[in-house]
Amino acid sequence: MKPLRCRRCGSDQVRRASRVGLLERLLSAGYVYPFRCEVCHRRFRALRWGEHYVRAGPDRRRHERLPVDFWTTLFLKDGERQGRVRDLSEGGATLEADLPVAAGDSLELTLKPSDSEPPITVEVAVVRSVQSGRLGLQFVRVKGGDDERLGKFLREQGGRR
Ligand SMILES: [Zn+2]
Repeated sequence: MKPLRCRRCGSDQVRRASRVGLLERLLSAGYVYPFRCEVCHRRFRALRWGEHYVRAGPDRRRHERLPVDFWTTLFLKDGERQGRVRDLSEGGATLEADLPVAAGDSLELTLKPSDSEPPITVEVAVVRSVQSGRLGLQFVRVKGGDDERLGKFLREQGGRR
């Protein structure tokens, strides 16, 4: 079976969404399940013949995107730019930034979720989508040690909701 891709932005960062209502319960008996794109947040249904999904386990947190609002510095080939982080997970982020980049480009960025701590450095992030000033990023490599601080920050923020 082909990996699922988002119908709007083409991302493969797609996750099973919870079923809502009787119709979706009935559809899931016929292997039609709801999904949500982690990059553009589009929700859609798709036939996944023969596949069963179990409820998300402890690993769910890793890709759960938390709404945030802080600034980031992006390092491009031609210099530094600023962007605003609007959601964040251990695996990626959505930024508001006007940058000369396209899907597939990679860049480095630093995240500064708090003033009291040194920034978190994402050494390699790949641009997954660019859409009207919004940038979907997938983190490929986070600097050693900073990945733990990122996880800790997300757990603290997530627990606060
Ligand atoms: Zn999408």
